[in-house]
Amino acid sequence: MVNIAFFDAKPYDQVWFDKINDRHKITYFENKLNATTAGLAKGYEVVCAFVNDDISAPTIDLLHSLGVRLIALRCAGYNNVDMKAAHGKIHVVRVPAYSPYAVAEHGMALLLTLNRKLHRAYNRTRDFNFSLVGLGGMDLYGKTVGVIGTGKIGRVFIDICRGFGMNVLAYDLYPVTDSGINYVDLDTLFKESHIISLHCPLTDETRHILDSDAFAQMMEGVIIINTSRGALIDTAALLEALSSGIVGGAGLDVYEEESDFFYQDLSGTIIKDDVLALLVSRPNVLLTSHQAFLTDEALVNIADTTLANVNEFFENDNIVNEICYQCDSGKIDGSCLKERTGRCF
Ligand code: NAD
Repeated sequence: MVNIAFFDAKPYDQVWFDKINDRHKITYFENKLNATTAGLAKGYEVVCAFVNDDISAPTIDLLHSLGVRLIALRCAGYNNVDMKAAHGKIHVVRVPAYSPYAVAEHGMALLLTLNRKLHRAYNRTRDFNFSLVGLGGMDLYGKTVGVIGTGKIGRVFIDICRGFGMNVLAYDLYPVTDSGINYVDLDTLFKESHIISLHCPLTDETRHILDSDAFAQMMEGVIIINTSRGALIDTAALLEALSSGIVGGAGLDVYEEESDFFYQDLSGTIIKDDVLALLVSRPNVLLTSHQAFLTDEALVNIADTTLANVNEFFENDNIVNEICYQCDSGKIDGSCLKERTGRCF
């Protein structure tokens, strides 16, 4: 049995982890993991963390000094972990895939809602306002969608778009050559897409991949969908593009500064982030609180894989879902220790 400190715990996490866990002692903390709360992990060998936990070097050093041996991320993305700081001290595992369908379907839900103004129609009819003025949209059939990142989620999103009869353009650093996907350079994608959907990870290269220069190339009224990571978009530039009409709508499941706000009920407080307040106030912006993953199937897979990762760490030499800063850099020069030994260090 292993003691697991589970940070940023929500009721929907606990339901599935408790159902699937039959071996370990899990203590659920509502606190997000950061350098201030890491002390809660005293006496635990494993911490389980999520997308908005701050796992930078000070957090890692504190966890290491307390004897924590494994950070089990219950998510795919790991941009919130200082991988270099962790290397040699604490192993990091993740859930590389739990349901690309959950995220891709949420992306399409954002697009459909935003395009046909369902969020506004819902509010109107609840108020017995049956006017249609201002609720017009466009047919998605025949429109061009530009998909940035054609990994697991991007490809499911492409399949969904094809089902709607849309033309798909795509950009990826590593195109999948036999996929039948029409890859183009980023500039072409910006210029020719009625809709642009982001499905690449957040890296130094992709931070603000949609900035003012990118928006300047886009066609007027383009709809932006982001279910990946908030910092892929320069939000100040997006607000300007919304004001000028270049961007006709933005469906966002993520926001650059989301960690201070998302997953909390702040309905009784004054939000001190003017950019967020401005975004939310726009009728053509639809913001959800990083919920694209939130389906039963995804939650089961997250719990299942996270617990399997913990078991593997303590029982096997090989940790399939371990990652480190070298994996991150895509090192393929034969120096990968994991390839030879099954572990990153
Ligand atoms: P994946 O690793 O299968 O695919 C990512 C793709 O992005 C790959 O094809 C990769 O080659 C490409 N890529 C990497 N760098 C790029 C660059 N500079 N430019 C263009 N493409 C680049 O990942 P996935 O499972 O499809 O997930 C994609 C992203 O979705 C994750 O990184 C994560 O940030 C996000 N995500 C969000 C949620 C949510 O609930 N909103 C849930 C899961 C994942």
